[in-house]
Amino acid sequence: MLEAIEISDDRISTLVRPGASLQKLATGAVQSEGPVYFHEDDSVVWSDAHGNRLLHWNSSNNVSVIRNPSDYQSGNYRDLEGRLVACSSGLRAIIRREDDGEWKTLVDRYQGKRLNSPNDLLVKSDNTIWFTDPPYGITEPNQGYGGEQEQPGSYVYRFDPVKGEIYPVVTDMVRPNGLAFSPDESLLYVSDTAAFNIPGGPHHIRVYDVVDNRYVKNGRVFAVIEPGQPDGFRVDEHGNIFTSSEDSVQIYAPDGTKLGKIFIPETSTNLTFGGKKHDRLFITAGHSLYAIDLNTRGVQL
Ligand code: MG
Repeated sequence: MLEAIEISDDRISTLVRPGASLQKLATGAVQSEGPVYFHEDDSVVWSDAHGNRLLHWNSSNNVSVIRNPSDYQSGNYRDLEGRLVACSSGLRAIIRREDDGEWKTLVDRYQGKRLNSPNDLLVKSDNTIWFTDPPYGITEPNQGYGGEQEQPGSYVYRFDPVKGEIYPVVTDMVRPNGLAFSPDESLLYVSDTAAFNIPGGPHHIRVYDVVDNRYVKNGRVFAVIEPGQPDGFRVDEHGNIFTSSEDSVQIYAPDGTKLGKIFIPETSTNLTFGGKKHDRLFITAGHSLYAIDLNTRGVQL
């Protein structure tokens, strides 16, 4: 039974299954982050972001370490060819696992200067990679190798891996972290986790209008998230936002109305949709990986 749900709006009942139970699939990470689902073998790859390892769970409940050290890999995603692409906080780069298993750095600089430490990413339907670049891999000793910040701010970048073109699309946030597009990719949502270590800093999700698939404009606050701050989040097929927070996965309608919460025993950091029907939510939280079956499906790969 799912006892741990808070209902703020009746619309949540169309999304969460009555009686659904939160399952703990794996534990033992220092800090779980960045889940990505592989339908080919019903498995999840996720980062032990502070433990400097990459982990793998499959539906036979086997858990393994597939990369150690992982250069403080954080957010993970898949490109249109199914390859794993990831943010490396340690290498301060976007990296990709090639078909031979080797990891390749796709981009680590903008205008000749090193990126801060890419944290989370997504792949748009045109195969461009959009990623956030807060400085946590520089400033936090358990999230990277340190170093000097070379970029003047923490931006969201658009990177074209075919052309090698990179430029910032969002420059007005303090610590951009998670990001997702609306189902039709007309909106870009970005979370700001500045409150994590900046007193009074934002702890909200902003939304921007996407222009020509290349730029964004008209940024505004979509939802203020508390307790804690929103780290990674995802959008379902109806445009609802499922976001991590200190005590739960919180659900917001596309109009910004809070629908409710699914409480998680550990602090959630990120999540992704998966399962054969794409209606299973995999959640990284604290030391662990959790899952819950929903009545809605994700839109991302
Ligand atoms: Mg993150």
